Amino acid sequence: EEEVSRKLQERIDAYDPVADEKSISQFSDLPITEGTLKGLKEASFVSLTDVQKKTIPIALKGEDLLGTAKTGSGKTLAFLIPTIEILVKNKITEFDGLAALIVSPTRELAVQIFEVLTKIGKYNSFSAGLVTGGKDLKYEKERVSKMNVLVGTPGRISQHLNETVGMETSNLQVLVLDEADRCLDMGFKKQIDNIIGHLPPTRQTLLFSATQSDSVKDLARLSLTNPKRVGVSSDQ
Ligand code: ADP
Ligand code: MG
Repeated sequence: EEEVSRKLQERIDAYDPVADEKSISQFSDLPITEGTLKGLKEASFVSLTDVQKKTIPIALKGEDLLGTAKTGSGKTLAFLIPTIEILVKNKITEFDGLAALIVSPTRELAVQIFEVLTKIGKYNSFSAGLVTGGKDLKYEKERVSKMNVLVGTPGRISQHLNETVGMETSNLQVLVLDEADRCLDMGFKKQIDNIIGHLPPTRQTLLFSATQSDSVKDLARLSLTNPKRVGVSSDQ
């Protein structure tokens, strides 16, 4: 197992996102674990989309990322695959508490992300929870502190970070801000700032957006450290 992870790390280290972009077309070309590959295969994901080719290798290297690509371009896998790999690499299990946070503007989008996560992550041992409001807060509170990955809306995640006893963030490895433009348009700036304020600065942050407004750039400045910027198609 150590040998396998050392070899994966060597492949990640050797990867040059610019020079090697063309050599990657299928998920099996990526330096990722067997479990994730199996999950992808069973969900019928074979070839990478453009945004996935440009972002996944950078995120696997541990870099912060600002990814801009239009709706429908495949941004969900672009952040879920690196997120899962970070959890596996850090050997995150039920005893390790919160390791990844995925923030999405609406309940519907959060549900979609959660479904893809549980599908492609089913061969891995981390636990994942969905927090979007609507459900009983007390019921959620008893469960969220046991989760390694939380997917949810800014308001509810912010509320749990403020109120839920046992919500430990010191082991957080990765923050994903998905559909950042929509989150900001919907008035979630305060909640997102609050979430970021709760998290250790050593984390990796992946920020995705369909458009690049000034407010997205402000959020990028606040949340990312030396980010790589990736834009796909006319939206860059
Ligand atoms: P975005 O977040 O950029 O709007 P999604 O991640 O929701 O895009 O993906 C849009 C659609 O494309 C979804 O139905 C998803 O299942 C599909 N999709 C994403 N990546 C791939 C892929 N590599 N191969 C096939 N279908 C994909
Ligand atoms: Mg999306």
